[in-house]
Order: sequence, then structure tokens, then C-alpha cells
Amino acid sequence: MKIVEIPTAGYERVAEAVDPAAGLHAFIAVHSTVLGPAVGGIRMWPYASREAALTDALRLAEGMTWKSAVAETGLGGGKAVIIGDSKTKKTPELFVAMGRFVQDFQGRYVPAEDVGTTTGDLENVAKSTKWVSGLPRDKGGSGNPSPFTARGVFLGIQACAADVFGTQDLQGRTVAIQGLGSVGFALARHLHEAGAKLIVADLDAARLAEAAAEFGAVVEDVKRIHAAACDVFAPCALGAVINDQTLPELRCRIVAGAANNQLHELRHGEALRQRKIVYAPDFVINAGGIINVGQEFAPGGYQEAVATKKVANIFRAVKETLALAKALEIPTSEAALRLAKSKLAAGLVK
Ligand code: NAD
Repeated sequence: MKIVEIPTAGYERVAEAVDPAAGLHAFIAVHSTVLGPAVGGIRMWPYASREAALTDALRLAEGMTWKSAVAETGLGGGKAVIIGDSKTKKTPELFVAMGRFVQDFQGRYVPAEDVGTTTGDLENVAKSTKWVSGLPRDKGGSGNPSPFTARGVFLGIQACAADVFGTQDLQGRTVAIQGLGSVGFALARHLHEAGAKLIVADLDAARLAEAAAEFGAVVEDVKRIHAAACDVFAPCALGAVINDQTLPELRCRIVAGAANNQLHELRHGEALRQRKIVYAPDFVINAGGIINVGQEFAPGGYQEAVATKKVANIFRAVKETLALAKALEIPTSEAALRLAKSKLAAGLVK
């Protein structure tokens, strides 16, 4: 395997690994270890170019620093990407080779699962390095993060409701959920149990039928879900869903969901503010999964009860972000970044 360093301003270490025998071409980006080891998932995606893969790794690694800083996980920010189609190019050897690349970081980067990778793939990574998180529970890891992410998003929606409606009670409120995957479906269940009415959209007809039967959810077209008349729009599928096309069509008071990078560009945070739509910044509200994984690093090891308790802090984190945005008359997305940067700065002087 050939490992080449890519010195990058603002990052502690960025490297590229190529191992033709194993079919591996990957990048690892460590943005910051100021607050702890850089924990972030391994994404496997058929990137159009080497540059596109590197750019994604850098952007995602930085995002992990801010997410973990606000959530106070005691972790830093990093990410890995593997170039390749996860449906056709996966082999055990590929992930064993990836483990060797991870090992080269000596614990400064610790992988977890992400888009295109599974806990099974991580088990192969673990064959060549001890630096792995997010393994299945029966292998000593913290297991599937999605229920924790869903719980955190639910609490974040309650915090937004308290801000906008003066009560966190969601009884009778309408929530439009875009994407009923691992997180979206679990979120739908929390909301249904809290008495909310649901409008849902997904590409998967079986998931929609399930949500209609279990929660009485109304099904909307995937192209129109963002424009549904509702109290809360919850993006739980794709990034960049708040953009120049969707913004004028929103008919909600709150945008709060699990998807990463919901704003197409930073300026869309200000556009939401202008429209008086309260936005729960994605990296604040969707931190439940990393909070859960982070508990693997706690003294004494992973304990579900402690993770669950820490996820409850997302309610306070969202409220704090909204309050700062109001006080400074800035978008909530900007307030979240300022909060994250101040926590990192506090870590630097420790
Ligand atoms: P998932 O792959 O399980 O679910 C995504 C769902 O979205 C699928 O059901 C898919 O059919 C649907 N979908 C795809 N395109 C769509 C479209 N155009 N319109 C409507 N639905 C569409 O993913 P997940 O784990 O539930 O994660 C959802 C989002 O939350 C992702 O953006 C992910 O990055 C983010 N996130 C997840 C976690 C976690 O713990 N899983 C943590 C943080 C952030």
C-alpha cells in the first residue's frame, strides 16, 4: 500500500492510500484532535474524480469537529472516504486494507460506519487495526447509532416548538418527514407517540405503506414534501434540500431533521431567518449517533444508559443555539458554528 501525505491548511493530517491489490483508493482527513481522537465514519461512494473524493473527506471531517464540539462528546473531527460503488466493489480484502491505512494514524483517526459502509465492513477493518468504533453490540461496540440520532432529532424538534409555539408539546402539530430510513422511520414513531400528525415521502413504497398503517401518516410526493403545509419540515434523506428552488415553497415554521448539510449554501441560513422559519442546525440536532459512539471512549466503556442521558442534552443545545441566534440577530446556522468554535477554543487553552 502506498500512503501519500497531502498537507492541507487547517487540517492536522490528510493522507491518500492506494492499494491496487486490494482495490483500495481512499483518503483520511483529520481536521482536529484538540478535543479528542478524530472519530468519523468511512464513506464509500462512486466519486466522479479523486478531487471530488478529497473535497468530500475534508468537508465532512471539518463538520465532525463542529458536531462533536457542540455535543461535548470529547471527540475530535475526522472522516474517511473510499472511492467505489458500495453495491458492486466491496470485498473483505478492501476493508482489511483500509484497516492498515487507519492503523497508520495510530488512533488519531478512529472510524465508524457511514453512507455505503456497515458494521460488517468495520469488522473487516478491525482485522488490521484496533482503532475502530461503532462495531455491533455483540462484538463489544455501541451498535446501530440511528435510534439515538432519531431520539435527538425528536428532542430538537421539541426545543424548536417551545421556541416558536411557546410549548414543546407536539400533540396535534403536523410534521412532514422527507425520508423514512433508519432515522426517519424511528423519528416518525416518536412523533406519532407524542400525538403529532405526519406527512411522509420516500422512494420506497413499502416504507410508506408501513408508515401509513402504523402511524396514519399521509403520503406526499417526493418532489413536493418540502412544500407541504406543516408546522415542522424534517429532512431525513438528502443534503442541500434548503436551496433556491425549495426555499420560496416552504410552508413550515420550523426546519429540523437528521440529514447532514441541509443548507445548500451558508446564505440559505440567512434566507430562512428572513422568512422567519426557525432552523435547527443539522450538526446540532443530529448528533445523537456520534454521542452514542463517543460513549465507547468513556472510562469503563460503553453504557447505553449514559449514552441515552447524554443524547437528552440535544434539547438544551438546540435551545442555546436558537437563543444565541436571536440575541445576535444572526442565522441559527451561524450561531451553531460560533458555539462550536468557542468550545474548540476553550479546548485549546485547557
Ligand atoms: P437511510 O439510508 O437509512 O435512509 C434514507 C431514506 O431516504 C431511505 O429510506 C431512502 O429511500 C430515502 N430517500 C432517498 N432519496 C429520497 C428523496 N429524494 N425523497 C425522499 N426520500 C428519499 O439513512 P439514515 O441513516 O436514516 O440517515 C438519514 C439522513 O440522516 C442522512 O442524510 C444521514 O447522513 C443523516 N444522519 C444519519 C445518522 C444516523 O445515525 N444514521 C446520523 C447523523 C446524520
